[in-house]
Amino acid sequence: MTTNDSWHLLKFGGTSVSTRQNWNNIASIIKRKRAKGKSVFVVHSAVSAVSNRLEALIELAQQGEYHVAYKELVDIHQNLLADMELPSDLLAERYSYLKRLIDGIHLLGEVSDRVRALVMSQGELWSTTIGQTYLSRVFEENVSWLDAREYLYARESRNMDYLCASCHFERDENLLRDVSDTSIVITQGFIANTSDEETVLLGRGGSDTSAAYFAAKIEAERLEIWTDVPGIFTANPNQVASARLLKQLNYEEAQEMASAGAKVLHPRAIRPAQISQIPVYIRSTIDPDIDGTVISSIENSWGMVKAITAKEHITLISMESQGMWQQAGFLADIFAIFKQHNVSVDLVSTSETNITVSLDSLTQVVSEKQLKGLVQELSQMCRVNVMHNCSAVSIVGKNVRAILHKIAPAFSIFETYKVYLLSQAASDLNLTFVIDDEHSSKVISALHELLITNNPNSEILGPTAKELKQTESVSQAKKWWQDKKDTIEVCLAERDSAYIYHLDSVRQNIQNLQSISAIDRVFFAVKSNNNRDVLQTAYDAGVGFETVSSGEVNHILNLFPSIDKSRIFFTPNFADKREYDEILQKGIRLTLDSTYPLKHWPEIFEGKEIFLRVDPNIGKGHHENVRTAGATSKFGIPIYELEDLQPIIEKHNVTVVGLHAHAGSGILTNEHWAEHARLLAETASMFPGVKYLNLGGGFGIKERAQQTELTMSQIDHSLQEVKAEFPQYALWIEPGRYISANIGVLVSKVTQVKQKQNYYYVGLNTGMNSLMRPALYGSFHNIVNLTRLYAEKEHLATVVGPICESTDKLGVEIPFPETKEGDLILIENAGAYGRVMATQYNMRQPAEEVCI
Ligand code: ADP
Ligand code: ASP
Ligand code: MG
Repeated sequence: MTTNDSWHLLKFGGTSVSTRQNWNNIASIIKRKRAKGKSVFVVHSAVSAVSNRLEALIELAQQGEYHVAYKELVDIHQNLLADMELPSDLLAERYSYLKRLIDGIHLLGEVSDRVRALVMSQGELWSTTIGQTYLSRVFEENVSWLDAREYLYARESRNMDYLCASCHFERDENLLRDVSDTSIVITQGFIANTSDEETVLLGRGGSDTSAAYFAAKIEAERLEIWTDVPGIFTANPNQVASARLLKQLNYEEAQEMASAGAKVLHPRAIRPAQISQIPVYIRSTIDPDIDGTVISSIENSWGMVKAITAKEHITLISMESQGMWQQAGFLADIFAIFKQHNVSVDLVSTSETNITVSLDSLTQVVSEKQLKGLVQELSQMCRVNVMHNCSAVSIVGKNVRAILHKIAPAFSIFETYKVYLLSQAASDLNLTFVIDDEHSSKVISALHELLITNNPNSEILGPTAKELKQTESVSQAKKWWQDKKDTIEVCLAERDSAYIYHLDSVRQNIQNLQSISAIDRVFFAVKSNNNRDVLQTAYDAGVGFETVSSGEVNHILNLFPSIDKSRIFFTPNFADKREYDEILQKGIRLTLDSTYPLKHWPEIFEGKEIFLRVDPNIGKGHHENVRTAGATSKFGIPIYELEDLQPIIEKHNVTVVGLHAHAGSGILTNEHWAEHARLLAETASMFPGVKYLNLGGGFGIKERAQQTELTMSQIDHSLQEVKAEFPQYALWIEPGRYISANIGVLVSKVTQVKQKQNYYYVGLNTGMNSLMRPALYGSFHNIVNLTRLYAEKEHLATVVGPICESTDKLGVEIPFPETKEGDLILIENAGAYGRVMATQYNMRQPAEEVCI
């Protein structure tokens, strides 16, 4: 490797290295990296099921007949060698070494942890020998094989844990020197060394952790865990078919899931990556083109249940003692016994007479002998009951405590199943129930169904494993700009940046909304996009216009002088008296979102028809700055204040013809508007003149690949129910973003690229002066390199503009290819609240608009 190259650390699990087909995929993955000038450090596991077979072989050798089991192990490898057309004697010496070890175990009738580790390590030594030989054949360059034990050293402790050691992972100059003249390296997962050169293991599933250690030691640019599922899911996808992909996680979330039993990641693998700030990618060797999960330091807000995980086959120890727990030092004495027997505890629950603990099953191996010794000693202090075959099922989610009321109905399933231990993590990241193993899969499925599958707030969840392949291609195919790449390039030939609007999409979006038959009128929120051609298209499609200032009203009147005034609706907020007066004089309907105008300037409303904007009290939306309800929001009249208006209304002969409510933006819950309709219909009984209910906007759009779009037929269905109950009211909506967001992209040329430690900055010709939403409310916009649309994503890029503000970021941690000056970068969903909010800050002109 040259000094400028960077390392990509790839870890392949057991299934990934078990067939020739998968090895072909591995070779292609490495080829792609090499073509990009990356050096590749491969860490891999033993062939699938080999570690289990070695474990079984050790037991058999102690008890009696073990030759058949030994022969089967050899056969698995010989078959693979034959399939891969590799020399049949490649592993001959390694086989006979294993044979000598197990003959020894058989002779002694017992085995130490030292020898056990040595036997188990053979699986990885054999498989990496196969891997290196195969890759040497595929690649013309040198593929070097390292013995992991020369570089990974276990942390020393009083009781050396030979089966579940943890290792040092500081930057390793020796290793870096040893690999400095090679670009493809292959080594074993799972195994390490003591300072006395004794083999140790990192615990079952520990190859992920080996990979993370090596990644930290060579300061790899990224760590990729290639396995047999395309990412981390909301539950084990092999167990729960409806489990959904989690596209992005931060290190804490991934750690929580791994510690709670999501086997796809070994629980010790996160820390080295997190400390060294190396992003971790989880992908499938079988489907290498699916993007999978990225783990990084990204901030995620997830006040929701994100996964159901389980640790199966765990052991509980329940200790009974009459009133002893309160005695000073009693617990210390109990736990001292655990310490003495080198047994670590995972979950704990206590009552006045009982303490129950579960044994840590992921990072320790407790032998029967060890357990027997522990129980014997504990029995001198209390009555001890050991329960095997238990499962710890966890509901993982940030602030579980805060959402307990929402998830409470799910707990009724525990009426049927006995719960031995309940534990809520102090970190407030999970809630765990220990039940019998035999019930675990039913409980997992039921909890997943109740808390995730049926969760209407599923914006951050991706497709299921089955849907994944189709969804990826469909969601790619759906985007209009992919068919217009050439047109966009022509538009940008003479410009550095441009907003490009696709008018067919305006028509399509309006048609979608018009398909909701329960809705009588659609108003387009002019504030979201006031481009003349966009408005003309909306006008031609028959929608009305929702306006928030006399400027907007006049803009519409100028564009469409003969417009029927009932197609304009004015919804001001804290506007002054003159503005209300002007609009009323023009015969345009308006809504009052405060009692102030009626109380203080009743004369201008004399004999007029008005709407009242009610505060629905619960704000909704993707960011607190776009939620427009509740006491902390400046919008709307609280329902309890409406009565105050009755005498004024009567006195001034004002007719309330409509009620109006709007709770925020970016709502993806289909039932939301029916809730509004019901609230308004119930409130409307106060005003006999009401004919219209304006349900507001907030129709969310799909911004991330993993989001589920609104379904118009479901919205219609829920509204029809309300309409059947209250047929006297006409229903209106006033969406903005839904009509104008995905019609527009902001395209800008790359000015410079900069790498600062792990941060890859892509600088554009325009930034927050054109598109303020990310800086204003942290909104997410998918960003792609249009010039290199199908190139491999090498970086997690921060896409920035040229404005002198540190918030001038259009996107952070966006998977991005290697990017060059002059590339065209496309920012999606920029049609709404983009150009309308642009400024000339720094005296830089914002991007101009082009319609296609
Ligand atoms: P490898 O041999 O590649 O290390 P593992 O068997 O250790 O693979 O881990 C992958 C397995 O993890 C998957 O096949 C799946 O059954 C299991 N798994 C458990 N929980 C999850 C989850 N939440 N998301 C994805 N996979 C999971
Ligand atoms: N081969 C080891 C095991 O099966 C380590 C690993 O695959 O991660 O536990
Ligand atoms: Mg694994």
